[in-house]
Amino acid sequence: MATVKSIEAIIAPPPPHMVGDGFRVHGFFPGGSIDKKRMSPFFLMDYGSKIEFTPSTHLRGVGVHPHRGFETVTIAYHGRIAHHDSAGHSGIIGQGDVQWMTAASGLLHKEYHEESFSRTGGLFQMVQLWVNLPAKEKMSAPKYQEITNAMMGKHQLANDKGFIEVIAGDYQDTKGPASTFTPLHVSNARLQKDADIIYSFPSNWNTGILVVDGSATINGTAVATDHFVLFKNDGEEITITSTSDDTVLLVLSGEPINEPIAQYGPFLMNTWEELEQAISDVSAGKFGVLEE
Ligand code: MN
Repeated sequence: MATVKSIEAIIAPPPPHMVGDGFRVHGFFPGGSIDKKRMSPFFLMDYGSKIEFTPSTHLRGVGVHPHRGFETVTIAYHGRIAHHDSAGHSGIIGQGDVQWMTAASGLLHKEYHEESFSRTGGLFQMVQLWVNLPAKEKMSAPKYQEITNAMMGKHQLANDKGFIEVIAGDYQDTKGPASTFTPLHVSNARLQKDADIIYSFPSNWNTGILVVDGSATINGTAVATDHFVLFKNDGEEITITSTSDDTVLLVLSGEPINEPIAQYGPFLMNTWEELEQAISDVSAGKFGVLEE
């Protein structure tokens, strides 16, 4: 008999900050009541809540910077985001698409508003996750998965109440296309009003839900737009009823990586020695070359 995965906290969006000049984000974690291991394997979640950008010929974003030891996962809800990295990958993701970039042993990349979106301006909303890698995979080769919305698994709900869009892991018999290094789940529940759904994850999996749009009652508690629900590790099932049309919930769950964490800026390793190595490897040009 499954038991309830109960709510530990409902967290309001922290005051936003700018990442470069293109991403106005609420840094939900790590920080506050969610320490660097609490949502493992998810280390970081920056949420760019809805914002209107004015037209610009300058491409707003973040310039060339390194990463090592983890994956960056960028989910576009509104607007278009472009990417280039020193491993030779590039891409553009639009509304509903996901970019899953494995930095692993290290690369340089830049992330910015796509050119046509910059010129017209408009509504922008996104999430970036940092997904940690286990020690044995931290120095594996960089990889890039562009996951278009059409590639995602879609679990349709009865009576036109919406669907679950699976990015990684599975929802019942529906699988997501992302390949991952450890067991985890990422999906968007796209719901019409009064949709009833149940998610089930192992009790030890760290789990959270971000209300990206609309509102929902989660395990009997009302949760508003832009709020994040953190769950206890006490049971399996989460019961959700959407309370508005066009509700979007980002659902994250994963098996914790129980290893030491050492983080400095864009590097996420296990020890301080490995961080020092990363810094010296960047200086030595071992992360490759990328034009600004
Ligand atoms: Mn980055």
